[in-house]
Amino acid sequence: AVILAVRDLTASVEGTQILKGLNLEVKAGEIHAIMGPNGSGKSTFSKILAGHPDYEITGGEILFQGQNLLDLEPEERARAGIFLAFQYPLEIPGVSNLDFLRVACNARRKHLGLDELDGFDFDDLVQEKLDVVKMNPSFLSRSVNEGFSGGEKKRNEILQMALLEPKLAILDETDSGLDIDALKIVSHGVNQLTHADNATILITHYQRLLDYIVPDFVHVMEGGRIVTTGPKELALELESRGYTWVQEAEAATA
Ligand code: ADP
Ligand code: MG
Ligand code: MG
Repeated sequence: AVILAVRDLTASVEGTQILKGLNLEVKAGEIHAIMGPNGSGKSTFSKILAGHPDYEITGGEILFQGQNLLDLEPEERARAGIFLAFQYPLEIPGVSNLDFLRVACNARRKHLGLDELDGFDFDDLVQEKLDVVKMNPSFLSRSVNEGFSGGEKKRNEILQMALLEPKLAILDETDSGLDIDALKIVSHGVNQLTHADNATILITHYQRLLDYIVPDFVHVMEGGRIVTTGPKELALELESRGYTWVQEAEAATA
């Protein structure tokens, strides 16, 4: 089944066109990596999927499980199973991590037609998921991400993901600034959570993450569109030859 279909998407921010005809199809069970030089529009694309209000869609369409995604408010998208892990996760002072997770989890459960979990049942579920990310329970009583290290924020995002069980998870440079141990934990979490019924888009600047999470497809984004798609080996090729190699190859065939 097709989870996400993006066709000829164009979008602008503050009057400047950033996305210039992006096409992408993601099916259930697939992991897609999107690579590409800085400024190519990768984060713009992920924020548009999540419904960030700064971006204006000027053309094309995005279908999520057959439904026009652009009709949905950001909160509705999250409930419907779109999960965006940010490059810089937000801190929410004064809101306990546990409460935050429970509200988000119950909103998602309601959408799925499941019973909301009371405090006790939610505690059981969280304990189970904490093991997946090897996170200390003390992080639950602290304010959301406040004073968390980079690695702890990432772990917390994977915990959110484990609780929300998204249909489509988008991780935007979730590997940036992670040491190797944190990278392994994040990768382990993603690998555990990806199954035949959901899909993952990994946006990354470096090949390193793809040593731990093996994508089915690697896309190169350049100037607001996907210009090259290949198998996982494309990431290695990019690592050794750089993005200019893609640009030259593209120019040669143009
Ligand atoms: P990437 O994630 O691939 O590095 P981005 O999507 O962050 O690229 O940025 C693509 C282009 O869009 C850049 O030139 C960036 O400066 C511009 N851009 C992104 N967001 C905004 C914004 N809110 N206001 C102005 N320009 C923006
Ligand atoms: Mg960037
Ligand atoms: Mg970015």
